[in-house]
Amino acid sequence: MIKRPFFAANWKMHHGPADAAAFVAKFASIYAPRADRTVVLFPPAVSVAALREALADRTDVGIGVQDVHEEASGAHTGSLSAGMVAQAGAGWVLAGHSERRHEFGDTDDQVAEKVNRVLEVDLRPILCVGETLEERVAGRLEAVLRRQLKAVLTTLAHSDAGALTYAYEPVWAIGTGRTASPEDAAEAHAILRGVIEETVNAASAAEATVLYGGSVKPSNIGELLAAEGVDGGLVGGASLDPESFAAICSAGAEET
Ligand code: PEP
Repeated sequence: MIKRPFFAANWKMHHGPADAAAFVAKFASIYAPRADRTVVLFPPAVSVAALREALADRTDVGIGVQDVHEEASGAHTGSLSAGMVAQAGAGWVLAGHSERRHEFGDTDDQVAEKVNRVLEVDLRPILCVGETLEERVAGRLEAVLRRQLKAVLTTLAHSDAGALTYAYEPVWAIGTGRTASPEDAAEAHAILRGVIEETVNAASAAEATVLYGGSVKPSNIGELLAAEGVDGGLVGGASLDPESFAAICSAGAEET
C-alpha cells in the first residue's frame, strides 16, 4: 500500500531560536507546500515558539518536540511535560529515541508512560524503536523490536493505537553515515507491522505509518522510500541544512 510519505527532522541539540527561524526562511523558499505529504520539524523545545512564528503561514509544516517526561507534572527539574508542550503549540512528540534510551537511560516502561502522557493531551507520538549492532549481530533484531513495541502497545487502548506513528531506527545507523539497506529496512518494518498486528489488529498494522531513520540523505531517501513498508524518514544530520531537508521532503514527488 502506498501511503502519504512522512518526513520528520530531528534537530537534536542544534538550531536554537535564531537558527530555527533562519532555517525556515530558507526552507520555505525552496520547499513549497504539498498536499500529498507530511513534514514535521522537531527542534529543541526552546525553539518551538520561534518556529511557530516563522511557520505562521506554513501550516503544512508541523512542529514537535524530541522528548517529554513520563509524569504529567512534578518536581523534575529541567523536564517538560506533555501538557506544557501542547500549550506551547507543538503537535508532535518523539518517544523512545535511541539517544534518550542509551544516553539518558529511558526504559521501555518509561517510553510507554511517555506515549500515554502524549496521547492524554491529544498530541501525536512518534514511537522510535531499533536494535544496537550487538543485538543485530546476535540475531536479536526481532526480539528487540518486539520487546520495545509490546512494552508500549500493551499499555494502550486499541482505539489509541491508531494515533501512533512509528520510526524504525537501527542504532548502528544513527549519525554513523551507515544506512540500513532497503532490504534491511523492509525486513524490520515487516517485523514491526507483525507485532502491531498481533498486539492490536491487522487494520492498525496495515494503516500504521512507519518511518525509517538512520543516516537518511537526499541520495538514499529514494531507494529507502521504495522499500516495502517504508512510509518516510526520520532524519537527523541531513535535516539541519534546509536545502538537504527540502530535497529529502521532495522525494518521490513528480516534477512539476
Ligand atoms: C535520528 O536522530 O533520528 C537520526 C536518524 O539521525 P541521523 O539521520 O543523523 O542518522
